Amino acid sequence: MIYFDKVTKVYPNAKALEDVTFTVESGEFVSIVGHSGAGKTTLLKMILAEDKPSAGQVFFDSINIHKTNRRDIPRLRRRIGSVFQDFRLLPNKTAYENIAFTMVAAGRSDEEIALDVPHALELVGLGDKKWNFPSELSGGERQRVAIARAIINQPDLLIADEPTGNLDPIAASEIIEIFKKINEIGTTIILTTHNKKIIDSLGRRVLTLDQGHIARDDKDGQYVI
Ligand code: ADP
Repeated sequence: MIYFDKVTKVYPNAKALEDVTFTVESGEFVSIVGHSGAGKTTLLKMILAEDKPSAGQVFFDSINIHKTNRRDIPRLRRRIGSVFQDFRLLPNKTAYENIAFTMVAAGRSDEEIALDVPHALELVGLGDKKWNFPSELSGGERQRVAIARAIINQPDLLIADEPTGNLDPIAASEIIEIFKKINEIGTTIILTTHNKKIIDSLGRRVLTLDQGHIARDDKDGQYVI
């Protein structure tokens, strides 16, 4: 599904990625670990077409992300859901409205919204907090709203950049259980994390980045940095 072919990314004062080659198959759950500055966020930005490689190519299925017509980028991005450390919810909208807003933007009908939003909130265990504003939710609950929003348009790929970085260990493990459920339904997941416990409990593939290089690619990974 995702193929990095000898990708290098050079910023004016840093080489963020160097000769990075790997493939993520459809249905995989891959974690990316590495020290701060190792290149994790840069790698995700390449997939989201937020930034371009200095050399090399990135493919989403057969689409060469950085060579494709710019008009095709929104369609590509709609195939990807994303979740971030800082949740990025709209503060003046309820949990329900935050998710519905994304569906409206994707051109979905009122009927679909009325059917799908409660279902997504149930999936993340927030069926009873539909009408709460973000300020009325805990960090873990906010992240669960963000996850429901990220998957509401049924993306093929879910990208999560340090999704548990602001959460306590219990909330973090609840979030990971939700990711597992989403992956079991068939969504490919790429997750970055610093959390050794999460990696060890997942027991799934781990790519370790070190100063822009892939230092390890372990099938049933442990956290080794
Ligand atoms: P990580 O997510 O693993 O912490 P990043 O991908 O954010 O690492 O950063 C990798 C390297 O690239 C770092 O040295 C960082 O300072 C540099 N970098 C990242 N983004 C930019 C940017 N927009 N401009 C200049 N340097 C950047």
